This record gives sequence, C-alpha cells and structure tokens, in this order.
Amino acid sequence: MAVDKRLKDYGLNSERVMWPDKGPGVFEQELGNLEQRLMLTTVAKAVAWAQSSSVWPDTFGLACCAIEMMSIVSARYDVARFGAEVFRSSPRQADLLIVSGRVAHKMAAPLRQIYDQMLEPKWVIAMGACASSGGMFNNYTVLQGVDRITPVDIHVPGCPPRPEALVEGIVRLQEKIKAGVPPAYEIRGVAS
Ligand code: SF4
Repeated sequence: MAVDKRLKDYGLNSERVMWPDKGPGVFEQELGNLEQRLMLTTVAKAVAWAQSSSVWPDTFGLACCAIEMMSIVSARYDVARFGAEVFRSSPRQADLLIVSGRVAHKMAAPLRQIYDQMLEPKWVIAMGACASSGGMFNNYTVLQGVDRITPVDIHVPGCPPRPEALVEGIVRLQEKIKAGVPPAYEIRGVAS
C-alpha cells in the first residue's frame, strides 16, 4: 500500500509545510471566501431579476374582478412592495395585462389590440373564473377563456379572487421570470 509522503519529505522546508496545524494562509482564506465577497451572476439573471421587480400592469378592467384588482394598489395590499404598482394608461408602457373579468365577444378584438400594442417581453394574468374559462357565463356572448385569443402566463382562480390571490399570482409570475421561464407566447409558439 502506497504511503502518502508529506511535502517536507521531498525537501520542501517552508514554514507552512513544517507547521501543518497552522491552518490556511491569508491568501487561501481570501480565495475561499471569494464567491461570498463578490456578487457573481450573469447578465441574463440580472436582467430577469430587474424585470421581475418592475412589472407594470396595464390599466385595464372588464367586470367585477376589476374592483378587486384596483384594491391591490391600496395601502392595505400595497403591491408596490413587489414593484408592480405603476399601472400604465398606455399599453406601450405596460408589460402585464391583467384580464380581470369576463371577456364578451365584443371586447375580444379590443383586448387583443391592447395586447398587441404592449412591448415584449409581456405577460398575461387571467384573473378569476370568467377570464380563465368563461365562469358562470356559459353562453354565446362570453369568450370561454381569454387564452383563446392571448397566451396566458398565470391563472388566478376564484369568483372573484381576493386581492391577496392576485398578489399571489403576481409573486408567482415574478418567480417564473426570475427562473428564466419564457413568456407564454414564446412557449406556445404563437404570434405575440
Ligand atoms: S369571476 Fe366572478 S367576480 Fe370575476 S368577473 Fe366573473 S363573475 Fe365577476
């Protein structure tokens, strides 16, 4: 069986070799802590982090769910904590479309136009049963789910979902963005 030789057995007689209990030198300690001392990341991760913390919703409401959506900017729910309090009046300045309520067939084309006017990357939250599936309105006037006309990233269940549920949806969206999950239109491979 081979016996490991120590460096001093090869004639190396530096102080550190002769004193094995001395522990790592200052340089070695600094090297070991290097990753903790530096913020190591990639540009893609940094951009994803910035995007996830500055999601600006479009000012767009359709029905009763919109009342719940409006309240998330109030002091009680304070969606500003997540960087999403800036509701924009122009879709060109927004990157999140919260579909809050049932989508009548009459509204389908304007909704799609607003979505088309938003710059990429952009995300869609279907808020409530009606936006997700038509809800109780199983009839010829209401679109049976907004994902028939736009890709949807997050579905928030409920009728209406409480504001906390919508905030939860926004937080889940943030997690997806940070994790590098592409927007739904890329995953579905449909025209954005
Ligand atoms: S899910 Fe309920 S609260 Fe929301 S739009 Fe439909 S009926 Fe109204």
